[in-house]
Amino acid sequence: MRLRNITGSREVIAASDYVVHEPNDYKGKWNELFGNNHPIRIEIGMGKGRFIMDLARMHPDINYVGIEKYSSVLLRGLQKMEQEPLPNLYFIRMDAEEITQVFGHAEVDRIYLNFSDPWPKDRHAKRRLPSREFLHRYDEILAKDGVIEFKTDNHDLFQFALEELDPAGWHLDQMTEDLHHNEEMMQDNVMTEYEERFSSIGNPIYKYIISR
Ligand code: SAM
Repeated sequence: MRLRNITGSREVIAASDYVVHEPNDYKGKWNELFGNNHPIRIEIGMGKGRFIMDLARMHPDINYVGIEKYSSVLLRGLQKMEQEPLPNLYFIRMDAEEITQVFGHAEVDRIYLNFSDPWPKDRHAKRRLPSREFLHRYDEILAKDGVIEFKTDNHDLFQFALEELDPAGWHLDQMTEDLHHNEEMMQDNVMTEYEERFSSIGNPIYKYIISR
């Protein structure tokens, strides 16, 4: 059953107009795909896509790209888009390690990382999306005054992410260790699927906003 689903999800994704199949072709010219010069914001590791779809619906004058590594997960986002197509949102199925091949210098206005996989073993630290290796990649594609917003309920991952800022040359603009009880940072908060799940069982949600 599971295998059949996975095979099916690859086929559905291959046939979908909401997925950019050759994203490298748009490096430096994503605005041509969207047909306007609106800012471009991306979520890396979007999962089933609820967060980025909510943002795209709320902000029609901003363009969004949702990035997800696994077809079987991305499929859920596609199913939602079929019911409610959003002209300012596209999806990419890819590993974010290749992100600099897909977006040009300073082409992205904001990057969202939500409940990124923790990769708890030290030898896998480079795979963590807020690691210095990824911060260097984001540095290439993010506009000069652009920001990264990161949320997680994982204490160790959040500590790690904070410690990576200095060595990578980033600046902490805002942070909280309990987002849902921080009135200022909760303004305009859009919940992710994982955020709803973990906050509902009482886990505090950590968040930072960083810039260079
Ligand atoms: N952001 C969603 C949320 O908050 O509900 C999903 C969180 S889930 C724990 C993390 C997602 O990131 C998974 O769907 C995983 O496949 C994806 N992911 C992890 N590493 C990735 C990478 N290197 N490139 C793209 N997606 C990645």
